[in-house]
Formats: sequence, structure tokens, C-alpha cells
Amino acid sequence: MTNFKLGKKQIHASSSSGFQSERMDESPSLPMDSKSLNPKKQVQPPSKEKLPHGKSSLILPNSDIDELLECPVCSNAMFPPIQQCPSGHTLCFSCKNKVNNKCPICRKEIGNIRCLALEKLAVSLHLPCAYHHLGCEEMFPYYSKLQHETRCTYRPYTCPHPGSDCPFTSDSLALLSHLRERHKVDLQAGCTFNHRYVKQDPCSVDSCSWTLTLFNCFGQYFCLHFEAFLLGCEPVYMAFLRFMGEESEARRYNYCLEVGGHGRKLRWQGVPRSIRTHHRMVRDSHDGLIVHRSLALYFSGGDQKELKLRVSGRIWREM
Ligand SMILES: [Zn+2]
Ligand SMILES: [Zn+2]
Ligand SMILES: [Zn+2]
Ligand SMILES: [Zn+2]
Repeated sequence: MTNFKLGKKQIHASSSSGFQSERMDESPSLPMDSKSLNPKKQVQPPSKEKLPHGKSSLILPNSDIDELLECPVCSNAMFPPIQQCPSGHTLCFSCKNKVNNKCPICRKEIGNIRCLALEKLAVSLHLPCAYHHLGCEEMFPYYSKLQHETRCTYRPYTCPHPGSDCPFTSDSLALLSHLRERHKVDLQAGCTFNHRYVKQDPCSVDSCSWTLTLFNCFGQYFCLHFEAFLLGCEPVYMAFLRFMGEESEARRYNYCLEVGGHGRKLRWQGVPRSIRTHHRMVRDSHDGLIVHRSLALYFSGGDQKELKLRVSGRIWREM
């Protein structure tokens, strides 16, 4: 990471577009080595599943089942009515039309033959959650597995970085290393912060400036976002906090943010949102501290041509 020195303060070439983010206090930056970061739980490699003694349920490794029940047209898991061609190749009912009733494998006319044997096999299966490798130990009947996977708390998080829609997904610990190494996001320890957001020409770009800082406190990680955007036709700045974990956990924390100058002060108290909620959704719901540009420039002092907004804040845990 590159640090620019400015007087006694450090300006971090942190992950931002448009803004410089200066840390005003002396709280330590944490080392880049992610191994030193409080690991939540060591993820065990998937274990070999044993077949149960009961006749009614079969447990097979996901890959075998995926192959057996994967539609060759859409590559999704097939659900009844599963169709088959005269040679026995299977596909989804809805995919039959897409291939004009011609088997995608042998090109024979498909007709209307259901594959009851495969449908029955699917019903009898108990499968591990697709996020088994991330720590989910639950098993599900074939037809409720997909439903579970859409809300499994072990499902990977998408990268919370606001810059571009980064395709990286992972558990929160690997995400942390990714944010620091790939996006050069600064990580700070402690539950209080004091930042100054600086922008030389705050009137030039109205809608695409943002910056992100990570905080580590209470053994958890938080993302502090600072963004410039247009609220209607009014240019505003918004600061808000997201929690690197589930919404149910996020609700256990509170945070406050303050900006001010010339004897005036704006204060926001809120509850962090989970990184499951996209930063644009948080922004669009106005769930954070919003400062109009004219006021932000007034708080910046000087000739009010340059943004120098000082944001202080604190995170605490609900008792
Ligand atoms: Zn299909
Ligand atoms: Zn066929
Ligand atoms: Zn799961
Ligand atoms: Zn990313």
C-alpha cells in the first residue's frame, strides 16, 4: 500500500474514486497478512458422506448428482416433469421447446415421455447444501435444497467494493484479504474513527465518487462507505456503515456519524446493514448520514471551493 505523507497525518491511497480519505486519529492500520485476522472458524474440507441404513434416502456426493440430474440444455437441476427422448436422454420439460422437441444429444424426436424413475430417485435423495465447503453441514431433500441455498447463511458474499461490480464471491474472511489485496482498502482497528474526506474540485463530478474503509472491532469487520451522488437534482454526500456478516448479526450493532463546523453539527445514529444488501440499495434507501453539497462545503471552511469534510464516528454493540 502506498501512503502519502502530509504534515503529520497520513493520507492513504485507499480504495477510492474521486476522494482522498485522510485518517485524523492515530488508530493503527492492521497488517496485510490476513492470517493474523481473527479467523471465524476453520472451514473443514467436505467429508465423505456415508449411506444411511434406512432405505428411503440416498446420500451421494454433489458432483454425481449434479451430473445425473443436470439438464443438458439449461445446465440447471431438473424438476418434474422430467422428460426423456426415445433413447433415454433426459431434459427439463421447459427446455423441450427450446430445442424444438429434438433431443440435444441424439437428435431424435422427444415426444412426451416422462422419466418417472429419475423423478422418484430425486425425491429419495438427501443432499448436502451446495455451501458444504464453506461450513454448512445441513442435508436436504432434493426439492428443498435449492430453496435452502437461496437463504443459506454460509452462501458466499459478493464483494462489497463500490467501484465496479466486482465478480468475486467468498466467505467473509477471504473477502477481507481480497478487499485489502485486490482493492487496496485500508483496514483500521478500533470502534471509533475520525476521517477527513478531501476532494479538490467537488463540483466537477456529481455521481461517481466514493471511498471505502474497513474497521475491525468486537471481532467483526465493518465497511464505512462515503459516496457522492445526486439526490434528485441535488448533489449530496452520504456516509453509511455495512457489516461483513448476516443481517441478523448486523442488528446487534449501532453506529453514529457526525459532521459539522462553525458551531453547527449533523449527527446520524443508525444500524449497520449487512453486505448482503448492495451498497446502492443502502444508498437509495437513504439509510445513512446525508449532507447536501452546499452544507458540506460550508463545513469544509476556507473558500468553500474544496471539500474537506471531517466525519467522526463510533460503533458499539447493543447490550
Ligand atoms: Zn433445462
Ligand atoms: Zn436422445
Ligand atoms: Zn446451507
Ligand atoms: Zn472485489
